[in-house]
Amino acid sequence: MKFNTFLLHNADPAGNDSGATLPPIYQVSAFAYDSAEKLEKIFNNKAAGFSYSRVGNPTVSAFENRIAALEGGIGAVACSSGMAAITSVLLNILSTGDEIIVSTGLFGGTIELFNDLKAFGITAHFLDAITYENVSKAINENTKAVFTELIGNPKLDVVDIESVSKACRERNVPLITDSTTATPYLVNPIKYGADIVVHSSSKYINGGGNSISGVIIDSGRFKWDTERYPGFRDYIKFGPFAFLSKLRNGIWRNMGSCLSPFNAFMNLVGLDTLGLRMERCCENALKLAEFLEGLDNIKVNYPGLESSPYYELVQKELSGKGGAIVTIRAGSKEKAFKLINSIEFACTATNIGDVRTLLIHPASTIYTHSTEAQRISAGVYDDTIRISVGIEDIDDIIEDFRQAAGDL
Ligand SMILES: *Cc1c(COP(=O)(O)O)cnc(C)c1O
Repeated sequence: MKFNTFLLHNADPAGNDSGATLPPIYQVSAFAYDSAEKLEKIFNNKAAGFSYSRVGNPTVSAFENRIAALEGGIGAVACSSGMAAITSVLLNILSTGDEIIVSTGLFGGTIELFNDLKAFGITAHFLDAITYENVSKAINENTKAVFTELIGNPKLDVVDIESVSKACRERNVPLITDSTTATPYLVNPIKYGADIVVHSSSKYINGGGNSISGVIIDSGRFKWDTERYPGFRDYIKFGPFAFLSKLRNGIWRNMGSCLSPFNAFMNLVGLDTLGLRMERCCENALKLAEFLEGLDNIKVNYPGLESSPYYELVQKELSGKGGAIVTIRAGSKEKAFKLINSIEFACTATNIGDVRTLLIHPASTIYTHSTEAQRISAGVYDDTIRISVGIEDIDDIIEDFRQAAGDL
């Protein structure tokens, strides 16, 4: 089956045999049983079943199962936000004294999280480019993970997961990929060798800008050596499910990072049209980038443009689609603000992956807590504008940017 058919028909959509095409919203906190023995078994993982929605919920499970199938993983854990997903993955693997290799082009919130983790004795080493050579050189005996975005938001650098995962495998370090901006429509990182995938499903997976959420998908392939990862000692008996069972029984559950059933339902509704939306957004983004490239007063960054250094990789890894984010440089902060304020219908908002075109000045917003050096290496300059291209009619989007840029 091709993408959209598989997306719509890969699983019993309701997670039961009612025939419903979507699951009901099980908007409850707890699940009742007719005996103390039954609940004892469920609490001790001796019987399947739900006990409490912080630990598991049927509507949330339906979402997790569809995403796991779509990414080619062995299972998934849904979270209250993309940041909760990233935090849970890191704390499930790392402990005091551990080091992690990460890219400088990460989402602002993730960079801030690595600052927070310093207090717990976890050190992040930032690399300007996540490549086979750089990662091989940077891995040392304390390195316990490599974390990168597949298409950096907003740097828009594309990582060659196939070669980077090779560098990780050679040293037995897991590769964690934030695939939010790529989505399973463009690529399954697990197919290219990533061990763990995370998404902020607040973005393209939900698609309508109506629910904050995140999701973690595990390939089940990484071999957790209990000398290097002593936290896995009690979980290694679960074989390929070691990572997911440690997560579910540990930090994810105990931090309370669960996704609400209502938001899981909204994501399931959004997920149905992921392929259609991505096809349209990517096509619009390319056309807008091509138009903007023709303007003298604007510099454009879009990995799907032939002029981009990532063009070849986009053809190989992302089946020729460069995603739906375009960044431009307007010449100065004043000009960037003027352009944003002259845009007529695109919304000035801090989000991506909405059906509506959104734009923002990242330096004064998402990266306002970063240092100048962090901003520059994340591809965020004083005059940078990030555009999350929506599904509107491309002629109207281009016309809006034409009139706004004409004034600069
Ligand atoms: C938005 C985003 C996040 C954070 O997700 P939230 O759902 O806002 O917590 C993480 N990574 C990337 C690439 C993002 O775009």
